[in-house]
Amino acid sequence: MQTNWRIGSLFGIPLFLDPLWFVILGLATLNFSLSYQALGGFLSWSAGVVMALLLFGSVLLHELGHSLVARSQGIKVNSITLFLFGGIAAIEEESKTPGKAFQVAIAGPVVSIALFFLLQLLSNVLNQTSALSIMSGDLARINLLLALFNLIPGLPLDGGQVLKAALWKVTGNRFQAVKLAAKAGQILGYAAIGLGLAVDYLTGELVTGIWIALLGWFGIRNATNYDRVTTLQETLLQLVAANAMTRDFRVVDADKSLRTFADMYLLESTAPQVYFAESDGRYRGIISIDDLRVVERSQWETQTLNSIVHPLTEIPTVTESTSLVEVINKLECEQLRYITVLSPAGAVAGVIDRGDIVQAVAQKLSLRIADADIKRIKEEGNYPPTLQLGAIAKSTTQS
Ligand SMILES: [Zn+2]
Repeated sequence: MQTNWRIGSLFGIPLFLDPLWFVILGLATLNFSLSYQALGGFLSWSAGVVMALLLFGSVLLHELGHSLVARSQGIKVNSITLFLFGGIAAIEEESKTPGKAFQVAIAGPVVSIALFFLLQLLSNVLNQTSALSIMSGDLARINLLLALFNLIPGLPLDGGQVLKAALWKVTGNRFQAVKLAAKAGQILGYAAIGLGLAVDYLTGELVTGIWIALLGWFGIRNATNYDRVTTLQETLLQLVAANAMTRDFRVVDADKSLRTFADMYLLESTAPQVYFAESDGRYRGIISIDDLRVVERSQWETQTLNSIVHPLTEIPTVTESTSLVEVINKLECEQLRYITVLSPAGAVAGVIDRGDIVQAVAQKLSLRIADADIKRIKEEGNYPPTLQLGAIAKSTTQS
């Protein structure tokens, strides 16, 4: 995904181009030039290029509509990307209410319809037979089409977002609303593939048919992703730290010398990563191997673990009842490998790393994830590409 080219920013929102965008730019230019053949060679091509660029300008303004309304609700917009099938605004999280979600969804089509009226007006004011009048009339119709196409009621289209907002309002359950709107998107996607094949078969318009089918395929893929992310968000909200924590840590005597600690534990081949020190039956804190390395080796015999322990009050912790969303966000925000879970009495109840989180989610959803994969996640400290829980938790609004 990072193959997109950054070409600048608008209102502080980074603007990206998918390299495949140029394919569409070329096709659009060709298409427009052919329809403006009457203008003659160079002029028809120039008009074609200008129209293709204005088409993408229209898509951009449409996306900007969504983006600026989202931003007015305090939601971050990460980027706007123009790609093969139009534009997409990467809006970081869901609006707080169905009404606000509706406003974000409808803003794009509203911009497109406003452009339609403006350009239509311009076309009418200009000399009807002039090239400019024809071009602005064409661009007006394109914007109308853009609005109408996007209002088809299935995710990932704007109409799907509107449907979602309406269902959310009616049922009061955002997750259920997204799933239903995604289902509508999947059905429409299959219908588009069917329609595309029918167009190919009945009219012989191969490119048009393939294009419709591709749009359908793209729609299905995205609708399915909405469904998946929603299921994950729902699952994360149902889990708390206690569901994910493990006891993959060791407790060592705080009065032991650094030398003894090093000999006993650090040389073990299967040494666990996390050590807590205790004395008199109480947890004194966490032992960081990095701190041990800082101490001169000559001091290892005389100094005890007490001298390098980090008290539990000074390290990042959560409680057993902390929601998993918060645990994930904390790991990401503070860039931690793991976090300590405290019991109500303030003792160490467990630790959680990204591997534990993936395991808990997989268990809840009855997904099969190989032990080797969990082990790798634990070692690398990254979520797998197919389960980007960091981003998903960030977009999960807790209410
Ligand atoms: Zn839109």
